[in-house]
Amino acid sequence: MKTVNHWIGGQAVDGASGEFGPVTDPATGEVTTQVALASAEEVDAAVAAAKAAHASWGTSSLARRTTVLFKFRALLDQHREEIARLITAEHGKVHDDALGEVARGLEVVDLACGITVQLKGELSTEVAGRVDVASIRQPLGVVAGITPFNFPAMVPMWMFPLAIACGNTFVLKPSEKDPSAALKLAELLGEAGLPDGVFNVVNGDKAAVDRLLEHPDVAAVSFVGSTPIARHVHATASAHGKRVQALGGAKNHMLVLPDADLDAAADAAVSAAYGSAGERCMAVSAVVAVGAIGDELVAKIKERAERITIGPGDDPASEMGPLITAAHRDKVAGYVAGAAAQGAEVVLDGTGFTVEGYERGHWIGLSLLDKVATDSDAYRDEIFGPVLCVLRAETYEEGLALINASPYGNGTAVFTRDGGAARRFQMEVEAGMVGVNVPIPVPVGYHSFGGWKDSLFGDHHIYGNDGTHFYTRGKVVTTRWPDPADAPAGVDLGFPRNH
Ligand code: NAD
Repeated sequence: MKTVNHWIGGQAVDGASGEFGPVTDPATGEVTTQVALASAEEVDAAVAAAKAAHASWGTSSLARRTTVLFKFRALLDQHREEIARLITAEHGKVHDDALGEVARGLEVVDLACGITVQLKGELSTEVAGRVDVASIRQPLGVVAGITPFNFPAMVPMWMFPLAIACGNTFVLKPSEKDPSAALKLAELLGEAGLPDGVFNVVNGDKAAVDRLLEHPDVAAVSFVGSTPIARHVHATASAHGKRVQALGGAKNHMLVLPDADLDAAADAAVSAAYGSAGERCMAVSAVVAVGAIGDELVAKIKERAERITIGPGDDPASEMGPLITAAHRDKVAGYVAGAAAQGAEVVLDGTGFTVEGYERGHWIGLSLLDKVATDSDAYRDEIFGPVLCVLRAETYEEGLALINASPYGNGTAVFTRDGGAARRFQMEVEAGMVGVNVPIPVPVGYHSFGGWKDSLFGDHHIYGNDGTHFYTRGKVVTTRWPDPADAPAGVDLGFPRNH
């Protein structure tokens, strides 16, 4: 069986704790790999390597940093297929979807390659007689990233390219469910010439995370995962004096107004609800149909959903793969099984589905629940599976109020032909990312990604300008170079005034 270990100080390091976790191929249900689970001492070794590397990386020239990042970008481009295959083998998503994830991670590498422009400081000359003021941004030191299973390559790349471009060193704790892609990224960074210790990977579970959150030499923590863990990470790391951005779970609503192109809306709903088997933080999990269009929209979604081909991610015919674990599949099935008793009309029931020849895989079919009540479990919880809830609203105002009552505020979308209504929605909805006739509005790398309310704890969104800001701290330098002809200033106990 393959073993995935750690990457510390520029090399693969065997797990020393004696603890391992299983990594399963979700399509076959077979354990293919064991992943080392780091002890606190192993986390300490990774942080120590990162701290030692920061002494020179933190003051390395921008030219040196971007040279490495451009080489890494080229290597990433060359290894897209291989990384996508690693993702599919451990996550289960279809190959094309895995390639999409690599492409979106690469966007942030592109941004990091241009860090020279983002790190340009500001200078004001002559703020007072011969006094200049410069604002500069400096790296934080050692920063940690803790990432979820659903984007094993992209989410780490939301973090480390900008972090290291800004002069920090990095310790990544990937998901223990699909750790191989992160190790491949570490190898490629090494090949690109990144000095040893600048990027480290410790595999593990709660024990490793908690050590990072408390470690005195970790200056900042970027976390992406579920809301309860995001809350824990934010509270714990903040209590230990760290800067924290903790992105959590979601329940993303798509509001369909009566004038929308219903075919386009149904295409979008199916793509966004069932892509990656619903295991996306930006998946549309609730469609709100406004006015009299509900029955027609549900019929169009059903017709499309029934045509989706489910199968192993490495089969080019598959459009949707299995879920990450059997336990998660059973949990998702439980929401569908309980939906009718809580008032929903079960239009499509995906439970009990299997794929011939892969009977032990973590399969579930597509489920569509209509007239879902807002107090039902299927609506309230983040299901994180291929289950789409449809809710009905009489008016725009009722639909908006329903969306804004959700504790989550990650992404949302409106489907309409009315520009005024779309603009009103974008201003009034309480969510961090809004799509207008775009169902999955994941911002490009040079904008920032982040939700509101229980979808993000902390002040910064991730990547884009917020990323650079998060991974640096400001310093303002006020300078006077006196002219020899100046009269001596003399002692003045008054507060300095600029004149
Ligand atoms: P998760 O919260 O279970 O795990 C995320 C990370 O936290 C993993 O590295 C895991 O090892 C660690 N972890 C798990 N339990 C822990 C604990 N008790 N203490 C400390 N660390 C712990 O999330 P997941 O199941 O891997 O990923 C799916 C979740 O992530 C969904 O809720 C999804 O919405 C969310 N997500 C959010 C975004 C976003 O940008 N907002 C993006 C992707 C995924």
